[in-house]
Amino acid sequence: MREYLATRRRAGQQILFVPTMGALHLGHFSLVERAKEDGGEVLLSIFVNPTQFNNPEDLEKYPRTVGEDLAAAKEAGVDSVFLPSVEEMYPCGDKATVSLKAGEMAELWCGASRPGHFDGVLTVVSALFHIVGPDKAYFGEKDWQQLQLIKRLVLEQHFPIEIISCPTMREADGLAMSSRNVRLSADERLKALCLSRALEFMVKGLGDKAVMPELVEKARAMIETEGFEVDYLAVINDELCPAGSAAEAVRVLGAMNVGAVRLIDNISCGSADSVANVFPFKL
Ligand code: AMP
Repeated sequence: MREYLATRRRAGQQILFVPTMGALHLGHFSLVERAKEDGGEVLLSIFVNPTQFNNPEDLEKYPRTVGEDLAAAKEAGVDSVFLPSVEEMYPCGDKATVSLKAGEMAELWCGASRPGHFDGVLTVVSALFHIVGPDKAYFGEKDWQQLQLIKRLVLEQHFPIEIISCPTMREADGLAMSSRNVRLSADERLKALCLSRALEFMVKGLGDKAVMPELVEKARAMIETEGFEVDYLAVINDELCPAGSAAEAVRVLGAMNVGAVRLIDNISCGSADSVANVFPFKL
């Protein structure tokens, strides 16, 4: 992999990196499209990272569709795919000496219900960055907290990499695309829309006189009526902390459990129509 990338670099190509856990969907390919716009060697990695799963069942049930992924990646114009094994990524296995510890920002929201999750994410992303040495790396806003933490990783660990954030791609009805969506039953899939609706409701309700707790409670009811369990709903500022006022609100975030399937989403407070991002191509 390193030798191959070195030849591409010598040929004057920038290395443009799209890390994923596979089960590729149009959300992933929107990152690829964005990378292709920049022009260079587009490298996509597929690695289901065990250290970021705090729930063994979630890891076991995580969809794995490598054959289809490789065909779709080729079709989408990805130049190369990196498919490391767990042994390659973690040469010392459970006896690893070094792992990254994410700070307080990682204890909020998704980190609160998935302890250690972001430590695993930062550890593997850092290792992938060392292996690949990309010029640019592409991450989705769908995982807003992860995106902010990766920006911090690059800043604090001095990676000479530009992080490009890409908007969330959605199904035609507004559900954020996710590899986990295939685990929903037809009925759950229809009802799962309540998450993006609840977030949209929160953004629309954010005015000068918005009473945050009331807004959150009403949004929570929209999800609970569908029979799903709210993990969190939040209006946050640019530090990922709860926004004290509508003026400092940057993003609304939410996570819910649909049976054993955990879904997350977020939208910008800046534009009420931000749930309208439907990827224009078909796989
Ligand atoms: P994952 O395979 O879920 O780890 O995601 C790999 C990358 O794709 C991450 O940067 C995600 O934020 C991004 N991604 C996942 N879903 C979407 C989506 N619906 N829209 C845009 N980016 C996404």
